[in-house]
Amino acid sequence: MCAGVAEKEYGALKECNNGVFLGLGTGIGTAVFIHGKLMEDIRSAGHMIIERNGRKCQCGKNGCYEAYASMKAFKTSIRQQLGNDNLSSTEILNLLKEPDTSKRLENTIKEYIEYLAIGISNMARICSADTLVIGGSFTYYEDVLFEKLQKELNRIMDEREKQKITIKLAKLGNDAGMIGATIL
Ligand SMILES: [Zn+2]
Repeated sequence: MCAGVAEKEYGALKECNNGVFLGLGTGIGTAVFIHGKLMEDIRSAGHMIIERNGRKCQCGKNGCYEAYASMKAFKTSIRQQLGNDNLSSTEILNLLKEPDTSKRLENTIKEYIEYLAIGISNMARICSADTLVIGGSFTYYEDVLFEKLQKELNRIMDEREKQKITIKLAKLGNDAGMIGATIL
């Protein structure tokens, strides 16, 4: 939530009326703004269920959004697919930039993007968002994931939804959490 507040004050959500911030990292942090005001009682989108009888989440439920769409979930899938549990985030990023490896990982990436897009489109619709900002460590993977995400959103959202919303990456990067904590 802190990072979302910082994005509202200084970053990519500055001009929004209804805005959603999703911070993709170990889990999924969420901040929702309606008529420019932070909705403090809205809890993390990370634990909305998006898959029936789905993966076990650390919260105890099955099929939570963050078990599919957090960066931790993404990296775990990549490591499994490549059969190497020890790959660091940097190594994964470099591998994704290699044409051969990224071709081999095509289905894993596609599946991740599909789940991520479902949650984004749900949140955008429920909150009637004009702006949705993605932050957290996802931003490091901008070059390999963001365009694919935009294409998938374009495929699954209806025309009215698409016209209304702008999807952006966070501006403040990893300092956003600290800046937001100071504002709060
Ligand atoms: Zn959960």
